[in-house]
Formats: sequence, C-alpha cells, structure tokens
Amino acid sequence: MSYIQFLGAAGTVTGSKHLINSSGDLSGKSGLQVLVDCGLFQGPKEWRERNWQALPISASDIESVILTHAHLDHCGWIPRLVKQGFRGPIYATPATIDLCGIILPDSGHLQEEDAEFHNRHKTSRHDPALPLYTEEEAQACLQYFEPIGFNETKQVSPELSFRFVHAAHILGSSMAEITLNSKAADGATRSTRMLFTGDIGRVHDQNVAPGKVVYSGPQSGESADLVVMESTYGNRQHPTDDPRPALADLIRKTVERGGSVVVPAFAVERTQKFVFMLKELMESGQVPRVPVYCDSPMAIKAVEIFLKHTEEYSDATKQLVSRYGSPLTWPGFTFAQTAQESKKINDSQSPCIIISSSGMVTGGRIQHHLAQRLPDPKNTVLFIGFQAPGTRGFSIKSGAAEVKMLGQMVPIRAQVAAFEQFSDHADTPELLEWLHTFENKPGVTYLVHGEPDAASKLREAMAKELGWNVEIAQWMQKVEVK
Ligand SMILES: [Zn+2]
Repeated sequence: MSYIQFLGAAGTVTGSKHLINSSGDLSGKSGLQVLVDCGLFQGPKEWRERNWQALPISASDIESVILTHAHLDHCGWIPRLVKQGFRGPIYATPATIDLCGIILPDSGHLQEEDAEFHNRHKTSRHDPALPLYTEEEAQACLQYFEPIGFNETKQVSPELSFRFVHAAHILGSSMAEITLNSKAADGATRSTRMLFTGDIGRVHDQNVAPGKVVYSGPQSGESADLVVMESTYGNRQHPTDDPRPALADLIRKTVERGGSVVVPAFAVERTQKFVFMLKELMESGQVPRVPVYCDSPMAIKAVEIFLKHTEEYSDATKQLVSRYGSPLTWPGFTFAQTAQESKKINDSQSPCIIISSSGMVTGGRIQHHLAQRLPDPKNTVLFIGFQAPGTRGFSIKSGAAEVKMLGQMVPIRAQVAAFEQFSDHADTPELLEWLHTFENKPGVTYLVHGEPDAASKLREAMAKELGWNVEIAQWMQKVEVK
C-alpha cells in the first residue's frame, strides 16, 4: 500500500512534513520514502516540543526531500534531519536554495542563542539546554540541495517523478506535482498524480495584492487525483482595497508632525515588497522624500538574491528595477549592514522611515528602534505582517500601554497602525478562485497547514462551492494513496 503520512502542519500552520511511502507490495514492507517539505514547528510550546521528537522512520531511510519554499515552517527542520542521518538530495528551485542559504544558518544561530540564554538564566528543564542544531550544522546541510527549475520533470526513481510549478507565494516558491507509480493488489501498476501545494500565493490583481515582487498568481489549470493543500486563511478574507493611498497618507501625516515611521518586517520578501512600494510612492510624490533605513543584514542578503532571480519578477517589479536599478543603490535609502550603522540610525532626529526585523518584534534590531521611538507620540509604528499571539508585536498592535523590551518597560505613546493587505497567502475567496481553474475534480483533498477552524471552514466552502471530497489531515495520520 502506498501512503502519505502527515508528520507536521496537521492541526497547525507550522512544521510542514509529509512523508510519501511507496511500498512495492502490500506486505507492509517499506518502499521508497520521500519527504515533501521538512519544516520547523513554531509557536506554542506544545508544538515546538515536537521538533525534538524523532521521525517514526529512520532519517537515513528517506531517499530525498522535495522542498516547496524557503520559509522556516517548511525548510527549518532540514538541518535536524541531516543531523539524524539523512544524506539524500534536497530538491528545490534555485531561488529557494539561495534563500535557504541565508535562512537556515540564521535559524541555527538563533537556536544557539536561545540555548545559551536558557543556560545563562537556568530557565530550561534541560541541563545544559542544547540547540536543535547549530549555525555550522545548518551550513553543512546546504551541500545536499539540488536545483530543479520550474516545469522541469525530475525522475527520482522508477516509481516517483515530480515537477515544480509556480505557487506565487514568495521568491522561488513552488507547488510539487508528483506522479507515483505503485502496484495495486491485483499486480497492475497504477499511476497517481498528486499535487502538494506548499503555501499558495495571492491573486494576479496588483490592486488587491499590491507590491507583489515575484511571479503573480499560482499556476492555474491543475489536475490531480489527490491534493494536499494549505488552509492558513481558510476562514479569512483580506481587505480588497488598495492600501497605498492610506499608507501614503499615514507616512505623510507622521512626517508633517515631525515623527518617524518604524516598520517591523520579516527580512525576506516582506521587507523587499515594502521597500519597492515605498520607492514607487516617493517617486510619484505621494510620500515626502525622507531617509529610508533598512536595518537588517539578512534583508540586504535577501535583496541580492532577489536581484539575481529576475526571472521570478512580477511585471511591476521588472518596471521598477529597470527604471531605478538596485534598491541597494537608491539615493536616500540606506541599508545598514553593521551594528555601528544600525546605531547611527538612532541619532537621526529628523523624520525618517525605519524598516527592521524581526517582523513580530521577538528579537533583532527592531527592538532598539522601537525602544527609542515608541515613547514619542509623534512617531508611528506600522505593522505589515501577521502578529502571532504572545509576541511583542501582538501586544503593541493590540493597544498595550507598555511593552517589555531589552530588559526595560517601554511606554507606548506612538501611533500604531496595521495593514493586512501585504499577506503572501491567498485568502478563502482567492483559494476558491484558484481551485475553480482545476481541470478535474480530485478524488480526495487533504487540508494541512491551517488551524482547526480555518481548515474546517475551507472544507465546508470547498464541498459547497466545488463539490469536492475534502478531509482534514491529522498529525501522524496515514492515508492510502489510491
Ligand atoms: Zn510560506
């Protein structure tokens, strides 16, 4: 029996890991084993603790990993998998590989910092607390990556082949169309076409989902017998109005009263998206020309990767880059690499715009900027990304009077604003719009990568609007590939 086992992102939005086992016979003997995505569990402790559990099979028995994109909840467990003995190829698009080259070592570095913090403060049950993996181990796993371009068919083994198609979620992001040939009980060979969506990007419309740096809209016209699909926003609708006029207004008003705008943003994708949009607003005169500081070494590396992969640009990005060149050389835009350059931004008394990470203010240089600028009502804090409950970003966005940062309580007097339009995940109407383009009705669709409510709402909507057979995947559940 061939089966898929959901080892993560089932019942939650993180830890994506789906094991395909193509058994050659029905005796239970394990056949070819391939992992689609290998992500880190993030968020609540109950889930994070699962990062420490071994897989139900030996890592060295896994033939290869097919990786949809470079977000940590999809790739962040790879160094751990390698640490446990995996030595096979990790297939990903060239841009995904480049992004993993900065994201995974950074993740290892953060793991080491966390362990060190716990050891210093004796706040772990474990003595000593250990990192899940180190920066060096993350660096070492990069040698196993093997680039596969979009629309190129890769024959992994006689039983399994796959092809990446555009997911339009972040740079390099893909869906994996996988064809599995397996033997049925009567001895006949059966071919099953499966689609693993990874994370699904926004629609094509630049006004509804503006600032899209990369390829716009997920691949349409798919067909599959079995679909494993994300459901992050299965119960949500993003605002459909163009955020740019309100954004310009907010920046203008802040600058007019002598304040600065501080933007916590993820270093990869979100920062680039925002920087491009800002440039457009400044050049068209909608926003005054004030200094823009992008304070994140990782964001700088990510810009360089973006500039390398022009083949992924949306039309708007192509125009912007051909007109203005690299963001790293734009006059008035400063990309702070060193700690000294970062500290110099604090000296800036006149209005400016500061973009820094981490996006949820859980750490990083953004803390220094917020600690300095939150107490002044002239300033504005602008959120352009999801803020998970329990993070500092969530507290600030929710209207807290003060927030603890860098060991001190910081009063929040600055204006707080948030835009929800910058999401890189399709919402429910967009998911349905994409599903409507399918050429067939898949036999079964398993929903993953969603909180229980989002998954169940999406299941209802898909059954009602499309008449599809949809099931919600459970953690560790095995489902037969028919
Ligand atoms: Zn993602």
